[in-house]
Amino acid sequence: MASMKYFIITYGCQMNVADSEKIASALEKTGQQPANNVKEADLLVINACSVRQAAIDRVYGQINNFPDKKIIVAGCLLDFDKKRLAQNKNISFWNPDEYFKLPPARLASESVAGGPPRTNKNTANIPIMTGCNNFCSYCVVPYTRGREKSRPASRIIKEVKSLIKKGYKEVILLGQNVNSYKDKKNNFLQLLQKINNLPGDFWLSFLTSHPKDMSDKLIETMARCEKIAPYIHLPVQSGDNEILKKMNRHYTVTHYKNLIKKLRAAFKKHRVNFPPLAISTDIIVGFPGETKKQFQHTANLAREIKFDMIYFAQYSPRPGTAAARLPDDVPQQEKKRRTRILNNILKKTALQNNKKYIGKTVDVLINKIKKDCAIGKTATLKTVKIDANPHSELTYLPKLQKRTVSDSLASVKIIGATAWGLRGKLKADTDKISNRLYKKSNI
Ligand code: SF4
Repeated sequence: MASMKYFIITYGCQMNVADSEKIASALEKTGQQPANNVKEADLLVINACSVRQAAIDRVYGQINNFPDKKIIVAGCLLDFDKKRLAQNKNISFWNPDEYFKLPPARLASESVAGGPPRTNKNTANIPIMTGCNNFCSYCVVPYTRGREKSRPASRIIKEVKSLIKKGYKEVILLGQNVNSYKDKKNNFLQLLQKINNLPGDFWLSFLTSHPKDMSDKLIETMARCEKIAPYIHLPVQSGDNEILKKMNRHYTVTHYKNLIKKLRAAFKKHRVNFPPLAISTDIIVGFPGETKKQFQHTANLAREIKFDMIYFAQYSPRPGTAAARLPDDVPQQEKKRRTRILNNILKKTALQNNKKYIGKTVDVLINKIKKDCAIGKTATLKTVKIDANPHSELTYLPKLQKRTVSDSLASVKIIGATAWGLRGKLKADTDKISNRLYKKSNI
């Protein structure tokens, strides 16, 4: 293949972001060059997401915008959309399990898995498994990505080791259902413990957990492993048992509440008081048949748990799923209204949680330096804006600007909070993640 310039457009979740890194790595190994922008590219790779209709509509839009380019559609695609897209002769497809053997090079999977170029210099997204066996009634992932497949732990550990050596400060393990990770010798707990025991300073977290698979042992391991960030994303989807049943989620609201109680208690026991465990979730509003009362149960749950973040989705039927056979009977306006109500609850609970940071000093991983401020995040995934102080002679931005991958951490005193983030002042440079998050006796 003659050398071409490629550009990748990524839709959807962190898994797709990580997959785009693999695709870029494979393309570069076959001699292709990254383009600076889509116009400059000969080859456009669209990494699609089928979780919502809107994301698929955007794929169709992009294809119409660039009739003169060679286009490859990768990612999560339903057969139905594939057939429609295949009518366009410029388009070819790569399935998620084919990224390691891209034509024409047929690259050996390990050589690519060892080192995809990473877009973020501090954070490494590392897929540990792909696919899903759960068949939640609204979700296309089991159809587009197939059944669960776990990568061998030895390869994951090798990859983490090499990234830590390069100075990465955050490792995020990715899978649609990480709790059911399993290779020949290790389950998810064992994998977490092995990564936690690697030498080096880094935060470790993982996405996404399923409440039905979150065991007491996992909760205890999370709290005891000192590198695991005090943050969990635990999708609840609904606060009503009947809706959860229709969603095929296999847990009850009481089970979910108990998990949160146990998680909070374990982190209180094994970690220092601050920062407390941060909790985010996913909620679908307007699932088929969701009554106002059933929605109220979800709103009550959100008030009670006091989430740090909620990722909302207004239900839209996806062809081929079990829920698509049910009437999509909650009107669009009502879905919007319910989202607004939840968002107002979130604004209050997130603000309450964020205000607790004021006056405290936290480690911040800086990932963007702007003209007059730096933007970073805490281990609990709070966005922090670090202001330059124009009245101070010791303005620290030039110092921040000189930072490299390996010294992107800062010790920051928090001086302000909103529902969506924190504001802080740089207290000190730090090369190491401090032990501030952990009780020394447990390390
Ligand atoms: S657990 Fe459910 S929502 Fe998550 S990927 Fe699997 S089927 Fe989809």
